[in-house]
Amino acid sequence: MASIGVDIGGTKVLGVLLEESTVVRRVKLATPSQPADLAKSVENVVGELGGADSVGVGIAGLVQFPEGVFAWGPHVAGTRLPLRDQLEELLDVPIVVDSDANTAAYAEMTIGNGRGYSNMLLVTLGTGIGGAIVIGGRLYRGDSFAGEWGHMLYQPNGRQCACGKQGCWETVASGPALAALATAFVSENPSGSLSHLLSDTAITGKAVTQAADAGDEVARGLVTQVGADFGRGLCNLIAIFDPEVVVVGGGLGSIGESILGPARRVAADALHGAAHRMLPPILVAGLGPDAGAIGAGLMAQEVAENGIESV
Ligand SMILES: [Zn+2]
Repeated sequence: MASIGVDIGGTKVLGVLLEESTVVRRVKLATPSQPADLAKSVENVVGELGGADSVGVGIAGLVQFPEGVFAWGPHVAGTRLPLRDQLEELLDVPIVVDSDANTAAYAEMTIGNGRGYSNMLLVTLGTGIGGAIVIGGRLYRGDSFAGEWGHMLYQPNGRQCACGKQGCWETVASGPALAALATAFVSENPSGSLSHLLSDTAITGKAVTQAADAGDEVARGLVTQVGADFGRGLCNLIAIFDPEVVVVGGGLGSIGESILGPARRVAADALHGAAHRMLPPILVAGLGPDAGAIGAGLMAQEVAENGIESV
């Protein structure tokens, strides 16, 4: 059965055409700045991919489920947007709208590195920290918005967060947090090796991880620091959920061992009862940056067959 999965992020709208679970085509458009144009941009993506029997949408932000109302998100314009209703009118096929973290988790648990586990956490580490919870083989959404642990309070009076609060976990563990550490270091050590390495480029999390890969010791130390702060938060999540596996996605999470190594060490050390239990495996996500779109498409297939209650 062919379906289309669409991932609406802060900068791009990515669409994939799926035959069963195989991606056969993909397209990318810029995210519209006007909330009123979001549904239209999904319609455009569906048109460019040639249409399908069902359409799923994952969107970065809070989504009321199963109604598919985009409540709010710090990176996509729009509030209380009835996206599922709008798309049903435009497309006339079964539609499902969920958060991009939930659709990515659906992909990971169905065909990615969470396959075969009943209890999984997906934690995305990129511009911020997002996540999704799988309990007993099904997504757990709380009343709709569960998994927003990037905004757990981590540091009282800490750095300003994109959400408007201060000291959230993602203010110390994210691409921008890594960039902020490097920016502070460079301004204090203008003649150091990291200043030279970063002199021709904007200081982003990616630039710092590249400097670390190139062997710069300071950059490596900063990546390790962010990995350790990431691990402390993971330890809290493991204490709450006791998952069988933690799957880590997102741009920074996907760089692998330089982040996950320190995260694992800190989490193993900080976990309560650490001497009497095993830390669950903490793995890199298997599906890369397309996971949100792929999961939305897989979810749409399930909804078309068995109804919205089945996902
Ligand atoms: Zn926050």
